[in-house]
Amino acid sequence: MNCPICNETIKNPIFHEYLNREFNYLKNNPFTNMKIVNCYNCNFGFVDKYLSYKELDAFYKEAYRGKNPFLKLHLYKYGINSRAISQILLIKQYIHQNSNLKLLDIGAGFPYAINAFQAIFNNVELHVVEPSSQTNQIFKKRGCKTYNFLFNKINPHLLPSDYFDVILLSHVLEHYNSIDLESILRAIKLLLKENGLILIELPNSDFVNYIDKRFNDAPHLSFFSISSLKYILEKCGFDLIFLNTCCELNEERYYNTKSNNAVDKKKGIKARTKDFIKKLVPNHYNIRFQKIKRINIKLLKSSDFNYSGDRECIRALIKKG
Ligand SMILES: [Zn+2]
Repeated sequence: MNCPICNETIKNPIFHEYLNREFNYLKNNPFTNMKIVNCYNCNFGFVDKYLSYKELDAFYKEAYRGKNPFLKLHLYKYGINSRAISQILLIKQYIHQNSNLKLLDIGAGFPYAINAFQAIFNNVELHVVEPSSQTNQIFKKRGCKTYNFLFNKINPHLLPSDYFDVILLSHVLEHYNSIDLESILRAIKLLLKENGLILIELPNSDFVNYIDKRFNDAPHLSFFSISSLKYILEKCGFDLIFLNTCCELNEERYYNTKSNNAVDKKKGIKARTKDFIKKLVPNHYNIRFQKIKRINIKLLKSSDFNYSGDRECIRALIKKG
């Protein structure tokens, strides 16, 4: 077996259990009968099953956002969170313009990033790729050009090429089949302007140190480390401007969420719920039924603005090489 990222032969692979705690209730569950294999060379994890575009598209269109996300989306139409602000501020450090920028948010989900982009820059043009049609209704109301599908290697021609100043891939790449990653990144590169920037954020998956402390894997299919992300980005011909871990320290995060073994399962769920609520409240502090006029300073206390060390996510800023 070879690693889909660094191509190293994985001798005697260990097949780790795939944890499907979040979507195990689904009737047509695509995340069954799979295991995770980890590459000893670049520390990339991948599932041993290929999910077709049809299966993935159906899951993200119908199940991923819940049965009726419209109310929640409507409430957060003008919402802004610390993750989005920290990402957009990182981009701002490396872009020379303050206005007339074109943003493409792939797998946008909620409008936090487009709201942050609009708050931080002037006269922005917003484009969103999002498979959920209910979510797209909100984006349309926010003046975005929407593309209602799951971005994949078969549909990039539906978007303008050589067009965007900024492309956002926040918690997106880990949702793809590992063997599709390279073609997806190369397709995204074609949409970017010559001096445009791509911001990538994804979970920092450490199967060496925290394999027994994971809580859930679904619906992720690819599990990155700093070295595997660096490997694939360079392989696709990108220049790395910024690459670091961010958000909460893994040590604290795994301590807070307790252990994941059977005995501590209940405690783990309780701690995760507490953690989720704790994160939810300050993050959604700025919910308004009207346009956001100012960003609440409390958001800036978030660990989303912290970098370096062993942290829960990886953030990268790249451009065409
Ligand atoms: Zn590898």
